[in-house]
Amino acid sequence: MNQHVVHVSEIGRARRVAAPERAVPATGVLLDRLSRPLTDLRISVTDRCNFRCSYCMPKEVFDKDYQYLPHSALLSFEEITRLARIFATHGVHKIRLTGGEPLLRKNLEVLVEQLAAIRTPQGAPLDLTLTTNGSLLARKAEALKAAGLNRVTVSLDGLDDTVFRSMNDVDFPVAQVLAGIDAAHAAGLGPIKVNMVVKRGTNEQEILPMARRFRGTGVVLRFIEYMDVGATNGWRMDEVLPSAEVVARIAEEFPLAPLEASAPGETAQRWAYRDGGGEIGVISSVTQAFCHDCSRARLSTEGKLYLCLFASSGHDLRPLLRGDADDAQIASAIGHIWQGRTDRYSELRALRGPDTDAAAPRRVEMSYIGG
Ligand code: SF4
Repeated sequence: MNQHVVHVSEIGRARRVAAPERAVPATGVLLDRLSRPLTDLRISVTDRCNFRCSYCMPKEVFDKDYQYLPHSALLSFEEITRLARIFATHGVHKIRLTGGEPLLRKNLEVLVEQLAAIRTPQGAPLDLTLTTNGSLLARKAEALKAAGLNRVTVSLDGLDDTVFRSMNDVDFPVAQVLAGIDAAHAAGLGPIKVNMVVKRGTNEQEILPMARRFRGTGVVLRFIEYMDVGATNGWRMDEVLPSAEVVARIAEEFPLAPLEASAPGETAQRWAYRDGGGEIGVISSVTQAFCHDCSRARLSTEGKLYLCLFASSGHDLRPLLRGDADDAQIASAIGHIWQGRTDRYSELRALRGPDTDAAAPRRVEMSYIGG
């Protein structure tokens, strides 16, 4: 069980951001202290989820008495779109909607439509994508596509129905997630990615069935090393199955050849099936940290900006949004925050091991800022 999941008032720790005195004009390129540009923004649109996976939102904590954020605390679609537009002036060209489970946010397609109208300084539309547990995708895929969503990524850790029902802890059948993936495919929300977090001793036996299921379908299956996100005490290095081992296991049945990265800062290493059956990806967050070109920022449901998935505190932009700051002042505030960024948690973990010390700063939970 995740022993570090706590009430949202604790996990949402953030400094209140004021309008800065020195302007940081938006030039389309914003670099942090390690010269990494800000290009990718993940926006959490809800802190709720309909699954209760033990590593993310365990039932013991997220029960009927759990206090989620009140609706008034959530950024409205207009507030999210205003921020996204400002981020785009700094060079963000990719936006991923996350949660919780983003499809639980009512009328999400209205937000998608607003975000799809944003243009980069070069006049291009944003790359607009969404990560989902897939449970509501069959119902929503067409409306999302029509609203302007480009692609979806579905989280799925195995195909065995009994294991899947017990992992999501709400008895949700895997067949409905697969139907959601099919619906997304039919709606043209591709290339669809399916993310599988691999935990040694838990779901490693699902690696080959998953590869067989998605090979030749156009879906890009990606294997992610199990990370110490949020749950500091629950994570053990010996539960990490290194990506190199995943690749070796698949290659025994289906020979693979390495592919070039499709974009700078891409987190996955790509491999092609030699027989033309498509490709897979591996995300080696633990064994090969990729902080050196991490260009991602994360915005929480109520407007707090986090500079790393492992951050212990964020920067609260909501007072600016709901005060009288204009867009240039908000752009300057974001500029200052990003220019001061030095986060590189995974690289440091590789050097000194994960924080297992109970006194270490409590990290923000993935269910709160999205993965
Ligand atoms: S640990 Fe933080 S800085 Fe490093 S890749 Fe992950 S999110 Fe980026």
